[in-house]
Amino acid sequence: MLKYLSANYILPVTSMPIKDGIVAVDEEGVIQGIYDPASFTLNDKVKIERYDGVIIPGFINAHCHLELSHMKGVVPKGTGLPNFLSQVMTSRSASMKKMDDAMAKADKEMYENGIVAVGDHANTDNSSTLKEESQILYHTFVEVIGVEPEEADFKLKEAKSLTQEFRNGHVSITPHAPYSCSKALFKKFKKAVPETNIISIHNQESDEENKLFRYKTGEFLDFYKSIGKNADSIKAQARNSIQSYLPYLPYPNKLLLVHNTYTSLKDLDFVERMDRDVVWCLCPKANLYIEGALPKIHNFINAGQPLVIGTDSLASNDTLSVLEELKALHEHFEDLDFLQTIQWATINGAVALNIQDKYGSLEVGKKPGVVLLQGMEHMRLTDKVKIKRLA
Ligand SMILES: [Zn+2]
Repeated sequence: MLKYLSANYILPVTSMPIKDGIVAVDEEGVIQGIYDPASFTLNDKVKIERYDGVIIPGFINAHCHLELSHMKGVVPKGTGLPNFLSQVMTSRSASMKKMDDAMAKADKEMYENGIVAVGDHANTDNSSTLKEESQILYHTFVEVIGVEPEEADFKLKEAKSLTQEFRNGHVSITPHAPYSCSKALFKKFKKAVPETNIISIHNQESDEENKLFRYKTGEFLDFYKSIGKNADSIKAQARNSIQSYLPYLPYPNKLLLVHNTYTSLKDLDFVERMDRDVVWCLCPKANLYIEGALPKIHNFINAGQPLVIGTDSLASNDTLSVLEELKALHEHFEDLDFLQTIQWATINGAVALNIQDKYGSLEVGKKPGVVLLQGMEHMRLTDKVKIKRLA
C-alpha cells in the first residue's frame, strides 16, 4: 500500500520546490512517486494525507558523539575548548547502565527530530549494539588520538581493532583533531588507510588551536601538562593549524572538517588550492556553548564550498536536532536562504557520508525519510517551526 503525502510545498532538495506537491511512499519508506498537483490524476481509491507545512527529506546529522550523551549539562558553558576537553576527560566515566540509557534516549530524540543518518565519533565500542538496532544509519568515525610520537603505532592499531566492532560497513578511522595527534601519527595514518576511508577531523574549533600551531603558545600547552603529555615534538609553524596538517592527510580521501570557527579567508584559499574533496561541517549550537563564537559562514558560501550540519554531542548542546542548528544559523545570519541551508542539512550531509544513493533528497527509489516542517512563514525558518515525522 502506498501512502500519498501532500503539503503546501514539497522540497525534493535536488530539484525545484513543488507547490501543493504529492509524494508517494511505500510501506518500507521508499519513494515511489513525486507529483505536482496538475499531473496527478486522482484515482478514487487514493487517499491523500494533506498537511499544512513543508515536506522535506530526513536530516543528516554530520557530526555527533553518541557516547557522550550522558554528559548533558555537566560542563558549564563558555569555558573555551581546552578547558572543555579537560572537563570531558575527567568527568566522562559513568556506569554502563547510565551511558546506555542516555545513548538510547539520544538516539530516540534524533529519530523524532527527523534525523535519518549520523556521522558519529567514537573512542569506545559503547555505542555499537545500539547502532546495530537503531532505525538511524550511523557512520562511525573511530577516533585516533596520540600527542606523543612514540604512541603512534599503538594508537593506530587500537583504532583499527575498534573499527571491527562496528559492523554495518559504515565505519572509518579518523584523526580526532590537529592538536591531539602528533605529526608522526598523521604520517602513519596516511599510510595506514585506504582511499575509501572518510576522514572527519575537528578543525579550528578554538583560536587556541591556531595559537598552538603558529607560535606554540596558549592554553593547549597547559592542557597537555594537565593530562601528563609531553608536547616537545610540537614545533611553531608560523601558520594556522589547517595549513600545517592538511598536507599530511591521505589523498584523495573525502574530508569532513568539523567546526571551522576560526578558519580564516587565507585558510580557505589554502584549502581551495589543495584541490581536495573537502566538506565543511557547522555545529553552531556547540560553538556558542563552548566558545561563544560562530564561524564566518559567508566566507564559505561566497567561496562556493559545500557545508553540512552537525549537532556535536550532548556534552556541548541541549538538543540533538539539525532543525535547531538551522534555527540558530538563521537567527544569527538573517540573510541566509532556507532553500540553501536545507541542502546543507540533507543532501550535502548524505554526500559527505557517501550515502546519497538512499538519503538526502526526495527522489524515486530513495529511502530518505519524510519530514514535515510546520509553522514555516512562506520559506522562512523561524523559531516557531516544529517537526513531524511522516515516514
Ligand atoms: Zn565533536
